[in-house]
Amino acid sequence: MIPLSTGPVPATAEAVVIGGGVNGLCAAYELAKLGLKRVVVLEKNYIGSGSTGRCGGGIRAQWTTTENIRLAQESVRMYENMATELGYQVFFRQGGYLMVTEEEKHLAAMRDAVALQNSCGVPTEFLQPQECRRIVPDLDVSRLAGATFCPEDGTAYPFAVTWGYARACLRLGVSIFIRTGVTAIVSDGGRITGVQTDRGPIAAPVVVNCAGPWSRHMAAMVGVALPNRQERHEIMVSESLKPFLEPMVISITNGIYFSQSMRGEIVGGIGDPAEPHWTDPGQFDTRSQLRFAVRFAKALLAYYPRAAGVRMMRQWAGMYDVTPDHRPILGGVPGLEGYWHICGFSGHGFMLGPMTGKRMAKHIVSGEPDDIISSLSLSRFDSGETVADAFVVG
Ligand SMILES: Cc1cc2nc3c(=O)[nH]c(=O)nc-3n(C[C@H](O)[C@H](O)[C@H](O)COP(=O)(O)OP(=O)(O)OC[C@H]3O[C@@H](n4cnc5c(N)ncnc54)[C@H](O)[C@@H]3O)c2cc1C
Repeated sequence: MIPLSTGPVPATAEAVVIGGGVNGLCAAYELAKLGLKRVVVLEKNYIGSGSTGRCGGGIRAQWTTTENIRLAQESVRMYENMATELGYQVFFRQGGYLMVTEEEKHLAAMRDAVALQNSCGVPTEFLQPQECRRIVPDLDVSRLAGATFCPEDGTAYPFAVTWGYARACLRLGVSIFIRTGVTAIVSDGGRITGVQTDRGPIAAPVVVNCAGPWSRHMAAMVGVALPNRQERHEIMVSESLKPFLEPMVISITNGIYFSQSMRGEIVGGIGDPAEPHWTDPGQFDTRSQLRFAVRFAKALLAYYPRAAGVRMMRQWAGMYDVTPDHRPILGGVPGLEGYWHICGFSGHGFMLGPMTGKRMAKHIVSGEPDDIISSLSLSRFDSGETVADAFVVG
């Protein structure tokens, strides 16, 4: 059991982090590591109850924008050492990511992406369809136009990562309150002064909004308008099978992704263009649909016919917090000292979270500029200086 508090909140804190998902816990851990005393994490439900506990656990540095590549690559390095750093098994496994397409029109962008990733030190290679069978022997490559593969990509177990960070936070003196909702963020004269919660107020000069799909709603409490919208994404897990699949396979053509967990289950999902976009938490709908199960099964069998007859054991849904360019929104906002956000991961916050937390904590504590945080600031949408990442799948 992790000793999380459901008691009265303290009257003051040096920093309040809203959200007990991977991003809130990474940020709190890194803030405490940099010496901040009395860091408080507030989670309205339980640890990992948001998107983090519903995610596929995939981690890849195969992106088309430098910021995403670097954040993911640096996070991969952290995942490699995470069990030691946190003193907790996070089940990180580097089976690689095989990213496939059936369309010739994607090939030029894939080759450009490989070149960009290689220039950042990520060892991705371009593969002809037949070469994919070297990595996944039973893959049906008959319709493929090409693929890319990076052996350093992998998967980790989202709940273990979350629990590992929570325990490490507590060791550093961070207080984590569950079943404690933030009802207002309070400011005075352009400075953050604290939060109101359903267990009482906390005065604090720093508030970090890590509320995932609820981050837009949180930001609005202090007049910050985030462009994020929220989408339901579904995922499923099968019965356990003997190990047969090393990498995560993802398709740029139809948005399916699937991997095999260490327990032998196939874990996978597929994006659905018919899903509505929401901006009001009252609209969020995380019910499961038969439509997903059918679409996923058909897409899986088209790439992996040997999966016919495998039983789906469970499916569930969660929310993506999506920005206009599918990249996170990081940093603060001019004119509101002490307010920070780490949100808008557009379905990829588990893989980008560790390094994002580290960079954001250093930026908050030291005040030093950070090139990635600057490029991913909210103001990029006003200035039009935004480049969408092209390889958003799921
Ligand atoms: C089906 C699915 C598959 C995915 N697969 C992957 C993947 O393979 N790889 C990857 O990198 N990412 C994946 N993602 C995305 C990933 O899950 C998210 O980007 C990431 O978990 C976001 O973490 P977070 O900490 O920012 O937000 P969350 O985990 O959502 O945490 C936010 C927390 O804030 C809390 N909160 C909200 N409002 C309040 C309030 N008022 N007061 C206090 N607490 C509050 C919520 O309860 C929640 O626990 C997937 C997502 C889904 C839905």
